[in-house]
Amino acid sequence: MYWDQATETMSRDQLEELQLKRMKETLNRAAKAPFYQTLGIADYVIKDLSDIQKLPVTTKQDLRDAYPYGMVCTPLQEIIRLHSSSGTTGIPTVVYHSREDIQMWTELVTRCMYMIGVRPDDVFQNMIGYGLFTGGLGLHYGAERLGCLTIPTGPGNTKRQLKFMKEFDVSVIHVIPSYALHLADTLEAAGIKPKKEFPKLKSAILGAEPHSEETRAKIEDFFGIDAFNSYGLSEMNGPGVAFECPHKQGLHLWEDAFCFEIVDPETLKPTSPGERGELIVTTLTRQAMPIIRYRTKDLTMRITAECACGRTHQRIERISGRSDDMMILKGVNIFPIQIEQILIGTPGVGRNYQIILESKGHNDHMILKVELDPSMFIGDISSLEKLRAKLIRELHDEILITPDVDLCEPGSIPVAQGKAVRVIDNREL
Ligand code: ADP
Ligand code: ZN
Repeated sequence: MYWDQATETMSRDQLEELQLKRMKETLNRAAKAPFYQTLGIADYVIKDLSDIQKLPVTTKQDLRDAYPYGMVCTPLQEIIRLHSSSGTTGIPTVVYHSREDIQMWTELVTRCMYMIGVRPDDVFQNMIGYGLFTGGLGLHYGAERLGCLTIPTGPGNTKRQLKFMKEFDVSVIHVIPSYALHLADTLEAAGIKPKKEFPKLKSAILGAEPHSEETRAKIEDFFGIDAFNSYGLSEMNGPGVAFECPHKQGLHLWEDAFCFEIVDPETLKPTSPGERGELIVTTLTRQAMPIIRYRTKDLTMRITAECACGRTHQRIERISGRSDDMMILKGVNIFPIQIEQILIGTPGVGRNYQIILESKGHNDHMILKVELDPSMFIGDISSLEKLRAKLIRELHDEILITPDVDLCEPGSIPVAQGKAVRVIDNREL
């Protein structure tokens, strides 16, 4: 049941003691990096874990300013790999890894995969980007460490993905949720029943982008599998930071490797458990490039209750979005996931959507393009109008905005190779 029982079920006291020890080591190491030298990190004293709040935070901009080597604290000959974020929100950032760092990353990812029941006799198809992006290589190493037959397809080429899944009897896939929905659309359009086509398929690992509980349910129902939420970011290695256990009640964040805080994004004061805030993470084992109090911009909350799986590492709730994704329309804060929840849960609505923001005079205006199930285009047109009215009503209740809803045929919205582009902001500044 556990890949590393001693670590995964360590008592909270032991775990916190380990964190404190590793935190002190991290500060000592970080003090060698030019960036942290400038911040005078060597002068900070950590006596207990709560002292972390006295340390300065590190932002994505800091990583960019320190480009190319300002965050590195080991000699270059000890570094064996660099990765870069996908640059969703601007210039990418670079993260360096020593041999030990790659080993630790592999260990964490293996732990996650074992936790959801991946075993050596599984055939694992990795549909997430390889290369600079961390998603592909991250899980690849874990799957090989476990001994799975690992198929590094990477993203795209839907026809080949489906062919491989069938012909190699794939049992576990790693996929971006929006792409999993696209696979479902493709199968449905071809009249293929997934349970018949892929009888061995048992689970999907969903990562790299925010997705709602409704989206998970849709993927699970369509394929007849279990889907697990995988969270990570390149600054903290990539996948393997937090992962759902079989109970699917939040994601265990591996506290032997990371120390996490949830704070109010404005004041940086800790939120109380059960209150949503920004996730801040500190590396505890990273050698080549330790990062102290990294502001992820991802919004979540801490779950302190014990988990039925016996793991003692605390959980975070599924990420509701990043603060950067938040749209402010007519003074109302809106996250794409609020819209997704309504769309995915509505019968007749398909699996892809896009939010377009425009200026109408001095006002903000939202146009929502929504793909529908093909069946909606057969027969009575009044059912389309009913659906449109229902969506507008429910969206207004949720986001207090009345969007234009543009109902389109399946396949009309382009499918991204990587993370889905949900929001197109054409508003005048
Ligand atoms: P970029 O920041 O350029 O997108 P990354 O590839 O490092 O580069 O992406 C990490 C980000 O992806 C996270 O900070 C988070 O916003 C998002 N992300 C990753 N996994 C998940 C997940 N399971 N749920 C929600 N968001 C996720
Ligand atoms: Zn658990």
